[in-house]
Amino acid sequence: MSGDAAGVSARVALHGDLLDFGGAPGWGEVETPAVRWRPDHWLLIEGGRIVSVQAEAPDEGWARHDHAGRWILPGFIDTHVHSPQLDVIASYGTELLDWLTTHTFPAEARHADRPHAEASAALFLDAMLAHGTTAAVVFPTVHAQSVDALFSAAETRGMRIVAGKVLMDRNAPDDLRDDVDVAEKEMEALIGRWHGKGRLAYAVTVRFAPTSTPAQLALAGRLCAADPSLYMQTHLAENRAEVAWVRELFPEARSYLDVYARAGLLHARSVFAHGIWLEDADRAALAVAGAQIAHSPSSNLFLGSGLFGWRAAEAAGVEVSLATDVGGGTSLSMLRTMADAYKVQALAAERLTAWKALHAATRGAAEALGLGAEIGSIEAGAAADVCVWEPAVGPVAARRHEVARTLHERVFAWMTLGDDRNLVETYVAGRSMYVRDASLRSE
Ligand SMILES: [Zn+2]
Repeated sequence: MSGDAAGVSARVALHGDLLDFGGAPGWGEVETPAVRWRPDHWLLIEGGRIVSVQAEAPDEGWARHDHAGRWILPGFIDTHVHSPQLDVIASYGTELLDWLTTHTFPAEARHADRPHAEASAALFLDAMLAHGTTAAVVFPTVHAQSVDALFSAAETRGMRIVAGKVLMDRNAPDDLRDDVDVAEKEMEALIGRWHGKGRLAYAVTVRFAPTSTPAQLALAGRLCAADPSLYMQTHLAENRAEVAWVRELFPEARSYLDVYARAGLLHARSVFAHGIWLEDADRAALAVAGAQIAHSPSSNLFLGSGLFGWRAAEAAGVEVSLATDVGGGTSLSMLRTMADAYKVQALAAERLTAWKALHAATRGAAEALGLGAEIGSIEAGAAADVCVWEPAVGPVAARRHEVARTLHERVFAWMTLGDDRNLVETYVAGRSMYVRDASLRSE
């Protein structure tokens, strides 16, 4: 029972082909020294951390798991996803503002019920693990108990989760609105309970500018200023109708991003989902602040929101990470997300390499979150958040894998053809938290 017994004190060794990054790959580079490919290596885990990567097999003091021919990667980091929205994933027929009203808000309102919020959080996190995602920046709902439920479930699983109570005090249904006083009290209590507890961190969470009054945005900014270790997450310039609405609501602001900047919500720990309809001045401001864009290609395609200008963001020096944005996005799989990101860039006559995509889903996201020493890489000292992958599943992918000439071709085919069926096992802080085939546990 080495799988179940692989607790934080156990010594576990995984054998396979190790793939991660030692740096950031450049745009368009299919050959880059940033890629770290260590085939036929052993990854040694002790006390929940990676302690060594070596070519030689360790001695019998280690529980050895042989995954020869499989790939071992850092767990994925999903930098923008909504835990209460599994109930509305794949909902037909609307774009952003209608979609929120028709599908999303009713699903979120059900989280006023604590047992529902708890069951929903558990389902969500287990689904993330079953897709190879071990860390995430998450929107629960406006209800404080939805935040408690999510953090509590993440703590049980040992996951690295950034989240916070969603702020909405206008332009939302009655059962999803808070107000400034209630929001302040609830946030202070939640921050006290969860921020910095184990692997959890609090994010001041503004749904988006239209659903918060200027007074509530100012409150959010005050909290960020009072504690720079807090994250901030929100949506930015996702869809043209939304951008026009923000211009009406905040005529004094230079741009949508400027609404957040003026409230003190643009800083190095800010995570802005989408950022499609930006001006050069916005990109420059994001870069200066050290804020990141959580690019959510599946959601952008599904809701018809627009094509993200990754190249322009990169040229301006903005950090870009990858995100599923479920339930606007249609899969929790970061492989499906990377494949969609490639297609979005193709429509803009750009080419996204497998390296650029994979880096944005691992090391790049970790560094943008200020967590590069803990997650996103296979390095001694990092948390043992790692996944074992089958490079090809099914006859088509197997054939493509077989005839691929380079590592980039193989990884690109995996990213384009693969999904959660390719995932063999997920480790979180050295504990096996998901295994595709239960018989593996007794190997
Ligand atoms: Zn979203």
